[in-house]
Amino acid sequence: MNSSTNQKLEIQKVESSRIAEVDFNNLTFGSAFTDHMFECDYKDGEWQNPTIKPYGPLTISPAAKVFHYGQAVFEGMKAFKDDNGKVWLFRPEQNYLRINKSSVRLAIPEFPRDVFFEALTTLVKLDKEWVKPGQGNSLYIRPFVIATQVGVSASPSSEYKFMILMSPAQAYYTGDVKVVIADHYSRSANGGVGAAKAAGNYGAQFFPTNLAREKGFQQVIWTDASKHEYLEEAGTMNVFFRVNDTLLTAPISDRILDGVTRKSVIALAKNDNIAVEERPVSVAEIVEAAKNGSLKEIFGAGTAAVISPVSAFSYQETIYELEKQEDGFATRFKKELMDIQYNRSEDPFGWRYEVV
Ligand SMILES: *Cc1c(COP(=O)(O)O)cnc(C)c1O
Repeated sequence: MNSSTNQKLEIQKVESSRIAEVDFNNLTFGSAFTDHMFECDYKDGEWQNPTIKPYGPLTISPAAKVFHYGQAVFEGMKAFKDDNGKVWLFRPEQNYLRINKSSVRLAIPEFPRDVFFEALTTLVKLDKEWVKPGQGNSLYIRPFVIATQVGVSASPSSEYKFMILMSPAQAYYTGDVKVVIADHYSRSANGGVGAAKAAGNYGAQFFPTNLAREKGFQQVIWTDASKHEYLEEAGTMNVFFRVNDTLLTAPISDRILDGVTRKSVIALAKNDNIAVEERPVSVAEIVEAAKNGSLKEIFGAGTAAVISPVSAFSYQETIYELEKQEDGFATRFKKELMDIQYNRSEDPFGWRYEVV
């Protein structure tokens, strides 16, 4: 673990807030940003000059390694405001641990815990007016790291920039999600970077996802790269299947992103005495369950949309429709999760983290 430099967090506040320019009732996910951002540079073997400053453009050399070799990782997390005006993060420790795990895989130096939490909480406090109360409203927080060393030689960068941006968000409705089960393209492979939140994983998904869109589907359910026999993730979310009253999901491996929403859903299900099986889920068994009527639900789980029900899937040119479940597992887990996130229910797992 890289130690921090014991440098004090420098805070440069904006002269005037841009908040009045933002229409909080018409937000496009991830497109408006709060007044401040966090920036910290890695140079000479240590993270230095942690600074909160006005949100704005960066000046970076076009030869910076991130542009040529894709050495970049990120996180996605949220802050929520309860009805008393208190602001909470949801399991931020998980995101802290995961960005460092992703960094290790991309040969990026780990970021110190104390600097991460001080920057995160100071930033949320400074821009707390940007977190609106009310169901579905949140502040989407995007920590990320990029390689900034100048030079187009293919080797790990000796310099990096760690940043945190924050974007106000409304409920993220994915609508009716129809998915295609992948039988050619892959998201990740054994020994690859699928378990890391690497920027390049997303770039590589856009083309096959566009092909699915052209056919009228919104997302791809990724299968194992070697034989396309096992169901692994749905788009950029983890995926769950409900067969009768049992919840099935792929086990964590180096092909699967260890989602915070996924592990929270599993904990909630176990707490509710719902049977959960974390094991390889085959395409064949899900197609069979769809045919015999035991497949009740498929849903994606991830921070942005929380839970996203799938209404139909296509496999080798056949479309299987799922009956709409008003009171299904998807609805139930979404409610339970959001009640904890907005401080409306007990938090038996200690997931809420009070900021201010
Ligand atoms: C971020 C991500 C998820 C969801 O993780 P959460 O921590 O629940 O937001 C799932 N799959 C992939 C590939 C991801 O990048």
